[in-house]
Amino acid sequence: MRFPLSMTLGMAVYIARNRLRPRREWQLDRAESTNGDNPFHILPATASNNGKRKPHPLLHKRFPLVLMLEPLHACNLTCTGCGRIREYEDTITERLSVEQCLHAVEECGAPIVSICGGEPLLHPDMGRICAGILERGRHIYLCTNGMFIERKLSEYRPDPKFFFNVHLDGLEETHDRAVEKEGVFREAVAGIKAAKAAGFKVTTNTTVYKETDMAEIAELFEYLKQFGVDGHMLSPAYGYSAVNDREIFMTREDVYEKFRVIHELARRYPVNTTPVYQDFLKGERELPCTAWGNPTYNVRGWKAPCYLITDAHYETFEELMTKTPWENYGPGNDVRCEHCMVHCGYEPSAALGINAKPTDGFRLLSWALR
Ligand code: SF4
Repeated sequence: MRFPLSMTLGMAVYIARNRLRPRREWQLDRAESTNGDNPFHILPATASNNGKRKPHPLLHKRFPLVLMLEPLHACNLTCTGCGRIREYEDTITERLSVEQCLHAVEECGAPIVSICGGEPLLHPDMGRICAGILERGRHIYLCTNGMFIERKLSEYRPDPKFFFNVHLDGLEETHDRAVEKEGVFREAVAGIKAAKAAGFKVTTNTTVYKETDMAEIAELFEYLKQFGVDGHMLSPAYGYSAVNDREIFMTREDVYEKFRVIHELARRYPVNTTPVYQDFLKGERELPCTAWGNPTYNVRGWKAPCYLITDAHYETFEELMTKTPWENYGPGNDVRCEHCMVHCGYEPSAALGINAKPTDGFRLLSWALR
């Protein structure tokens, strides 16, 4: 099975419950009162609908699916495509306490917590944070560059709800170039081997850039097979404001071309992106942005509207959900979103069944059970 049964079933029940009884306060639109605040907002064209867009009804069943928890932004690397070490330079030495992390997990209520950063394994209390999240019944993806796994492994216990998610953007030469340091690939692989040998679940996380060779990604997955890696996440890079001076990011057309092979890759290897999101990456399906599905919490608070764009930070999760003008974001609504296809903005749409086809349920089930 692609995911632990507890995760698949738990998520299905959680989605059904929230679709049936969405929290009313989170569904109110804020666009009309905030349009003037955002210089990037695209005004609706005149139109057949009196200038108002008609959102998909499921866009008014907002609730969080995956919490993106950033306990710190400090990192031992300076990866080419990373915005965090640039955007959060002023607070790079700060970190969330164990209590703040656990409070965020409870406030948000999402069944999956993706711990990112920065490099989470640099946080001295990361073992305690993970233990606390697991005690609360949540699943964890601990996103790491893998360089500290071997040294820190004794602070963790294998658990079906816990995954080390190791960043690998290609084979050795490519990956070391992307992270701007030699030897990182080897250390990450050593970390993967050590974690697997100790009984942990391990996935990998690959960002696809304009220059990525998809044949090399297939070689990478083939190479990782020998270690029994449990799954691979793939997402296109996106040139948001903190790193948009670089020429490594793709337009939608570039993404469609690059991900032409995604279904083939997913047939041969345990790719963790849902089939509907795979269709979207190939240009075979339209999905709207549902950034509220993957909220981000960090040392400055709840980041709005999404993992990529920062227009505000809120103190509480309730404020994030009720004060963010969600309907002002996404392609066609905000110029910064035009070419965005990242998983944190669109996987929730796929999981919720927005723009679903009759065969989606069967495809999703057979993919999850494979
Ligand atoms: S499309 Fe959504 S996820 Fe992407 S940058 Fe815009 S708000 Fe963020």
